Amino acid sequence: MQNEETRQRILVVEDNKTLAKLIAKKIENALDMDVDVAFSLAETKLFLARYKYFITLLDINLPDAPDGEVVDYAISKKNHVIVLSANIDKDFRKKMLQKSIIDYVNKGGTGDIDYIIHTIKRLQKNKNHKVLVVDDAMMFRKQMQGILENLFFEVITVAHGEEALGMLQAKPDISLVLTDYNMPVMDGLELTYEIRKTYSKDELSILALSGNDDEEVTALFLKHGANDYIKKPFSKEEFSVRVNNTIEALENIQTIMHYANRDYLTGLYNRRYFFESMQEYIEDVKESGEKFAVAMLDIDHFKQVNDTYGHDIGDKVIITLADILRSSTNPQDVVARFGGEEFCVVLKNINRYSALDILERIRQTVESYTVDAGKGQFINFTISIGAVIHKEENDLEESINEADMCLYKAKNGGRNQVVFES
Ligand code: GH3
Ligand code: MG
Ligand code: MG
Repeated sequence: MQNEETRQRILVVEDNKTLAKLIAKKIENALDMDVDVAFSLAETKLFLARYKYFITLLDINLPDAPDGEVVDYAISKKNHVIVLSANIDKDFRKKMLQKSIIDYVNKGGTGDIDYIIHTIKRLQKNKNHKVLVVDDAMMFRKQMQGILENLFFEVITVAHGEEALGMLQAKPDISLVLTDYNMPVMDGLELTYEIRKTYSKDELSILALSGNDDEEVTALFLKHGANDYIKKPFSKEEFSVRVNNTIEALENIQTIMHYANRDYLTGLYNRRYFFESMQEYIEDVKESGEKFAVAMLDIDHFKQVNDTYGHDIGDKVIITLADILRSSTNPQDVVARFGGEEFCVVLKNINRYSALDILERIRQTVESYTVDAGKGQFINFTISIGAVIHKEENDLEESINEADMCLYKAKNGGRNQVVFES
């Protein structure tokens, strides 16, 4: 639970009290947020003066504001607005969408409230994403920036392809690139092609925009690796939905990849991903001659922990060890759970002396750590470690086998010790 100060607030403005309370209740249940309810423009003004809101949901037909006046008021006070309406008149809807609102939503049906909740969740996640807008026309850049910032994205704008490539290098955590087609120096198609040399669709999304009527351009963009295409001029609604969909697809892929690459219990890399993630480093090391250490670790008499305290406490011991390994190594080092109670650690850019020092400290930290096994019981455990400095002529599997031999010696030598091949 977030504390009161950092909890986000939502304001629901709706003169139908039953509906207002229903919406508020549903949002409170689905999202960890505080919800205020106002029934008129006058009340809305008091709430807006008092609190800062993440989102305001506004009914456009209120007793003291029958024609959407509350929308203009909230926008003038720099609020993010979603319009609630029962009015499905096309022109009216269009008029509303011309204002700086996030969305125009029907109200009443249960599905409508679910849509609102989905939208709010989407907006919360958008805060974590950087979007790069590439367009040579300042007016379009500003327009897109406005819409995207209203959707809570962090927005960076540049005027041409070269500048975009530079920005991607400076900020590699950009999630989405929106690129125009016709631009001087490097057009959007070339830019897409260049970006895809470095970033796959799993890492970065590209949305292309163009006023070009040529159908071939659309196809070429998609073939060159754009995730989607928007034709200019576009409606704000279509633009917002396509951007959100593209980001959502990227998040889904990244979630799946996260679970595929990690061990579910500890969140550490699994064995398969360990080898995949080491490939590039092994290639780099062949050039640079950088030294690194490979260590195999195994919990001593772990079967006894399970047998005495149960499987859940066994799991807790494994998680404890994973936490110790993570906090005792550098971010560039690799820590993986190979299976059961067996772990592999790669210490990068290191000599034997320093590696032994780190591994010995890990051994001591584990030895002195106490795990709460519940019911007033506390347990200690130890680990054995086998390690080598990777030899240039070896491949990674050979180093791991050698480290495993050292681990075997550590077990035979009485456990709770580090054997580092000299
Ligand atoms: P040694 O000191 O020789 O390493 O003895 P040990 O008891 O640690 O080794 P052994 O290989 O005999 O037993 C490992 C045990 O780890 C057996 C298995 O049931 C248990 N285990 C494997 N994976 C998990 C897990 O995810 N959670 C729990 N709680 N136990 C696990
Ligand atoms: Mg009303
Ligand atoms: Mg063991």
